[in-house]
Amino acid sequence: MTSSGKQVGGREYLAIPGPSVMPDAVLQAMHRAAPNIYAGEIVDIAASLVPDLRRVARTEGHVAMYIGNGHAAWEAALANTVAEGDTVLVPATGRFAHGWAEMAQGLGATPQIMDHGKREPWDLEQIADALRADSAHRIKAVLAVHVDTSTSVRNDVAALRAVLDDVGHPALLMADCIASLGCDRFEMDGWGVDVMVAGCQKGLMVPPGMCFVFFNDKADAVRRAMPRVSRYWDWAPRANPDEFFMYWNGTAPTHHLYGLRTALDMIHAEGMETIWTRHERLARAIWVACHAWGAEGPLELNVAEPAHRSCAVTALRLEAPQATALRDWTEARLGLTLGIGLGMAPPGDPAWHGFFRLGHMGHVNGQMIMGLLGGIEAGLTALGVPHGRDALGAAAAEIAKV
Ligand SMILES: *Cc1c(COP(=O)(O)O)cnc(C)c1O
Repeated sequence: MTSSGKQVGGREYLAIPGPSVMPDAVLQAMHRAAPNIYAGEIVDIAASLVPDLRRVARTEGHVAMYIGNGHAAWEAALANTVAEGDTVLVPATGRFAHGWAEMAQGLGATPQIMDHGKREPWDLEQIADALRADSAHRIKAVLAVHVDTSTSVRNDVAALRAVLDDVGHPALLMADCIASLGCDRFEMDGWGVDVMVAGCQKGLMVPPGMCFVFFNDKADAVRRAMPRVSRYWDWAPRANPDEFFMYWNGTAPTHHLYGLRTALDMIHAEGMETIWTRHERLARAIWVACHAWGAEGPLELNVAEPAHRSCAVTALRLEAPQATALRDWTEARLGLTLGIGLGMAPPGDPAWHGFFRLGHMGHVNGQMIMGLLGGIEAGLTALGVPHGRDALGAAAAEIAKV
C-alpha cells in the first residue's frame, strides 16, 4: 500500500488521451543542465525540428512553434487569420470543435456551429448547404477537428476539402490534429488543408508545453491582409526567424526542444506509414475486445462504424456509475489510469459516470494494449459488471496479425 492508498507495485500506466506515455529516451534527453540559449547546440536543434515536423504533418508549408498547449495552438491559428467580426463555420462532433469555436468568439469572431452530435462524423451535405448559402463568402475559415477526443469520432478532412472545392468557397480549411497527428493518417498537403494545429503531448510523445501551427501560402496571404495580428501569436517571425529568440518571442522551451528532437528521431526511424499501421492494429485489438465484452453486457463503443473511429482514442459507454467505478478500480488496484468521459453528460449529472475513454496514442505497443485490456477485464470481473467472453483472445489474435 503506497501513501496514496494504492495497492500497486511495478510501473503505472496512464492510458488517457493526452498527455500520452513518454518514451524513456525522451525523458532522458530532457534530463540535463540548461543550455546556452544564445549559441551552440540548442540553436541548431531548433532549426532541425522544422523539416522533421513538416514530415510528420506531410506538408511543404510553414510551421510556427509556440510555448503552449493545444488551446494555445487554437488561439494562434485564429489570431493570424480571423479578425473581429469575421464568421467561422464550425462543424462539431463532440466537445472539441465547440472549444475552438469559443476561442474564435473570444477573439470577436462569430462562430456558425453545425452540431452533428456525439456519435457520428460530420454531415457533409449539411456543410455543403451552409457553404452554398454563404454566397457573399462571409465565412472566412472552416474549423475542422480531425479526431474529436471526447467522442473518438474521426472526421474525413479530405472529403471536407472536396466539399469546399465543389461549392467553390474560398474559406480556409483549418484542421485540429491535436489528437490525431502521429496516430491517425493525416496528409496536410495531399488533403488540401490550409492551416493545421497540433500539440506535443499526444502523438508526439513529449510532455505538454509546445504547440505548432502549420500553414500554407494561401493562409499566409490571409494573415497579411489582416487589420492587425497580435505580436505574441504572429506566426510570421516564428516561421522565418532572423534570430533564435524570434522562434518563441522570448526564451526558448529549452528542455522541450531536446525531448522533441528525440521524439522526432524515434518517429522518423519508425516511419509515418508504419506508425499509422501500428496505431490501426492496436486500435483494432481494442475494438474487438470491446465488441466481445459488449456482446453480453452493457459496455459499448461510442462510435458504431469502424471507419469513423480514431486509432488514437476510444470512447466507451458503460451503465452509470460503472464507468467511474471501473476507472477507480483499475487506478487503485493496478496503477492503470483510464480516461474520464468528456462532454457526454454534464459534470454533476449521474449519467456522467457512464462514460470513459482509452488513450492509445504515441508510445504504445501490443503488450501495453494487452495489459490495458487485461486490466479492464479484471475490473469488470471484480465489479461484477456482466461482459462477454474471450475479449482478450480476440485482441491477441488482432495483435498477432503483425
Ligand atoms: C487535447 C486536445 C485539445 C486541447 O489541447 P490542450 O493541450 O488540452 O489545450 C484540442 N483539440 C483536440 C482534438 C485535442 O485532442
